[in-house]
Amino acid sequence: MTQERAENQNDLGPGVPTPPIPLAGSAAHATSKRRGSRVGITEAVLRDLRSSCPDVTEDPEVIGESSRDWWPLAMTWALHGQVGSRAAAVARPTSAQEVAELLAVCNKWGLPVTAAGGRSGVLGASVPVFGGILLDMCGLTGITEVDDTSLTVDVLPGTFGDRFEDELRTQHSLTCGHWPQSMNLSTVGGWIACRGAGQMSTRYGKIEDMVQGLDVALADGRILSTGGYPRAATGPDLTQLFVGSEGTLGVITSARLRVHPNPPEDRRSAWSLASFEDGLEMCRRILRRGATPAVLRLYDSIESERNYHLGDGRCVVLVLDEGDPAIIDGVMNVVADEARAANASPLDAALLDVWLAKRNDVAALEQLISRGLLVDTLEVSGRWSVLSGV
Ligand SMILES: Cc1cc2nc3c(=O)[nH]c(=O)nc-3n(C[C@H](O)[C@H](O)[C@H](O)COP(=O)(O)OP(=O)(O)OC[C@H]3O[C@@H](n4cnc5c(N)ncnc54)[C@H](O)[C@@H]3O)c2cc1C
Repeated sequence: MTQERAENQNDLGPGVPTPPIPLAGSAAHATSKRRGSRVGITEAVLRDLRSSCPDVTEDPEVIGESSRDWWPLAMTWALHGQVGSRAAAVARPTSAQEVAELLAVCNKWGLPVTAAGGRSGVLGASVPVFGGILLDMCGLTGITEVDDTSLTVDVLPGTFGDRFEDELRTQHSLTCGHWPQSMNLSTVGGWIACRGAGQMSTRYGKIEDMVQGLDVALADGRILSTGGYPRAATGPDLTQLFVGSEGTLGVITSARLRVHPNPPEDRRSAWSLASFEDGLEMCRRILRRGATPAVLRLYDSIESERNYHLGDGRCVVLVLDEGDPAIIDGVMNVVADEARAANASPLDAALLDVWLAKRNDVAALEQLISRGLLVDTLEVSGRWSVLSGV
């Protein structure tokens, strides 16, 4: 591993939600963009809520800031002092027990509850559309158990991604392998609730491949434990029911994730190809042979030029693999074979350093939106047989 990469890993974010863009005026005075009724709370409800979770606040500043996420459209509203929809109160539990008891109280009073982690979602899913309680899960944080023999860890849902990975690497010589671009902005609970994908998913899988079990607080205050063991041959998989459920079926209070030994080495290569289709074919053939480099990125000619300034209109493919040298050498041999078959030209592998240095840099979003532009990302998934036509 290079020195630069090690430094990047220690460049930790704040460990609390990062506001996507400054709110015009103040968060306390931000108004709700959504019209229509929202559920409020009375003094009696507040007392009841605080008996289950002491930290329930009606502070207008906290409510305003907690009632938005990184939805690009909502970032344009922020320029006019608006958030999607204000909560009536924000609850900040610090244990699964508090979460469960709070949900039971909300259930009793018919209060809507919206769970939130890092609030880095880009679709407004953590916005308390109907008011009620914004359940800030960032107080449940940290790794609670490491089983190095079985390669699993138990982690609390409010743990921010960068801190989770940093603690795994520096204190346990392990890695989770989940690297969303929003690593410093998002939490483990949010990854699972959103069925997230990371930049190294070709090797490590998506989050659903990593989750082995969950503790989930249900709406009536019961806590359900799912899975926790490697495999089962009975009945439906309740763990996967909650993966991707975006807080609608229950609140994740703990997760057991599969992890891997900290990769001792990595290998890198970069290539340029005449067309995007040639690049797709090269990637397809690499994967078809069973080689799964952690990073396999293909850029079209516009993005290749914007990021790597080749000046020749060609398409860039970046490859990085990490892990046991015996395995990654084999993977990189397959990559080189298929690059030759696709008439790819080798580029300086230092292009990987360029990508690694800015892969979590999200500064452009605020700059562009502040200038009145709306910027968003669309993800497209397709079978190899139809991909070039998408
Ligand atoms: C610049 C940028 C880059 C991004 N890159 C990626 C990427 O590479 N890959 C990717 O997958 N996503 C990416 N995202 C989207 C976002 O970061 C992910 O969806 C992330 O998993 C959300 O986590 P969070 O903690 O911020 O969740 P939040 O935004 O707080 O919540 C998201 C949803 O999860 C629910 N939720 C949160 N915590 C819990 C819990 N404990 N129990 C139950 N439900 C819960 C919320 O109710 C909501 O429905 C990116 C976002 C930004 C802004």
